[in-house]
Amino acid sequence: MDKKTNKILQTLGIETVNKGATTGSINGWITTKGQELVSYSPIDGQAIARVALADAGAYDILMEKATTAFASFKMMPAPKRGEMVREIGNQLREKKEALGTLIALENGKIKAEGMGEVQEMIDIADFAVGLSRQLYGLTMHSERPLHRMYEQWHPLGVVGIITAFNFPCAVWAWNALVAAVCGDVCLFKPSSKTPLTAIAIQNIIAPVVDKYGADGVFNLIIGSRQDVGMPMLNDPRIPLISATGSTAMGKRVGAIVGERLGRTLLELGGNNAIIVTEDADMDMAIRATLFGAVGTAGQRCTSTRRIIVQSSVRKIFVARLIDAYKQVRIGNPMDEKTLMGPLIDATAVAGMDQALTAAREQGGEVLYGGGPATIQGLEGGFYVTPAIVAVKNHYPIVQQETFAPILYIIDYDSLDQAIELHNQVPQGLSSAIFTGSMYAQEQFLSHKGSDCGIANVNIGTSGAEIGGAFGGEKETGGGRESGSDAWRVYMRRQTNTINWGRDLPLAQGIEFDIR
Ligand code: NAD
Repeated sequence: MDKKTNKILQTLGIETVNKGATTGSINGWITTKGQELVSYSPIDGQAIARVALADAGAYDILMEKATTAFASFKMMPAPKRGEMVREIGNQLREKKEALGTLIALENGKIKAEGMGEVQEMIDIADFAVGLSRQLYGLTMHSERPLHRMYEQWHPLGVVGIITAFNFPCAVWAWNALVAAVCGDVCLFKPSSKTPLTAIAIQNIIAPVVDKYGADGVFNLIIGSRQDVGMPMLNDPRIPLISATGSTAMGKRVGAIVGERLGRTLLELGGNNAIIVTEDADMDMAIRATLFGAVGTAGQRCTSTRRIIVQSSVRKIFVARLIDAYKQVRIGNPMDEKTLMGPLIDATAVAGMDQALTAAREQGGEVLYGGGPATIQGLEGGFYVTPAIVAVKNHYPIVQQETFAPILYIIDYDSLDQAIELHNQVPQGLSSAIFTGSMYAQEQFLSHKGSDCGIANVNIGTSGAEIGGAFGGEKETGGGRESGSDAWRVYMRRQTNTINWGRDLPLAQGIEFDIR
């Protein structure tokens, strides 16, 4: 581990690997002596740090603490909770460089994207501060005289946050900071592939938590599925589980939490496509495709996985895209010139390989790339060359999400056909059309257009702003988080009717009196 990395770890309160395991010594994070997890960097396969885990006993202690904290935190006025979130945002601003670098180190995304992820946390903090004064309920006119009706929103309780490795801290912020202004407390279970980033968040926010006496509001638990994951799903003290990850995980989580009639917010896999019409601005379409398919090494839920291109421009589009792919620098994500870092681990590299084999077997033709890439000096890292593959949309492999930089090329002749192909996958997260035609644009956005939660025009599929509600349909899970009115899922709605008269009329004019 070089000096710079040691300094980053020190700044974020994480022990270097040879000093032993980092333990949960701060508020809201509990560990147990014994079990440990090692976090490896995908950059070179080397261990970064060791983390002590929590067992089932620690889980119970933390849940006790969280439920106790909720009883007092929900009584703090929402704008005051907003003040606290504002200060959390300020702490994140101060530690942006260190946290952005740690994300690159632990997750392998390029540093610019690591910094972007911290910026997203800061943005959602600002959004949540404003929201803390806007948790509006409706008032309605009662059908009964001298009656008043309105809706109000109450805090929900403990929110369980389960996150994927690819956005190790932004997804926490989307959930935890909005939940906090809503008056909820949270229990964060990060991916075991990125525990250090989660610990860093806990350390960064600790001074603010102390200042506001909010111990037990932001809780972190890192442990096995058996000791932590399953107990969270089965725990009736957790009214909402917000889970981000694969569709397979979401189906399990949905079934288990549904069994106890708990609420879930599911943010699952995507299979995102861009339709490119013959009158599209090709420069823009190529740039958006490159960022969408190669950015974050194809490891975003919104990564572009399919290009549905009009036959008349397919040849030129693919030729230009291959040209652009050839210029992508693959390598150390800490290097400013690098555009594509490694995949998360060896399993992801093998998964990409298996998908390319399947695509070939099903009739596809690899037009560019594929296979592992060796980076000098970083031989232990998990690098690949991004691939472009000509396929038919109905191939089983194209119907699946492969979490790697594989871009499928599919041709179409008419816009109706393009939209049909677009929607013919089980997932429904993000979608885009590049076109110069108002008619094509409007059809794509209409009821007979894209069936996804996100539909863009002349913007790629990846890189959403926090102001809109984020999420997708079908096997993407149907959840919405982040901006707009996504806050409602973190609260419980109550309808109140007040009779300020001296009579007791019943609704629907029912007479029910002893005469
Ligand atoms: P994953 O499904 O392997 O793991 C996600 C999280 O779920 C991890 O924290 C994991 O430990 C946990 N988990 C898995 N099974 C569990 C169980 N039975 N009980 C409790 N917890 C359980 O996903 P991943 O490989 O970390 O991330 C990649 C996937 O996440 C992709 O499919 C990607 O599209 C998806 N993703 C979706 C969004 C979105 O907003 N739609 C955002 C990011 C990632």
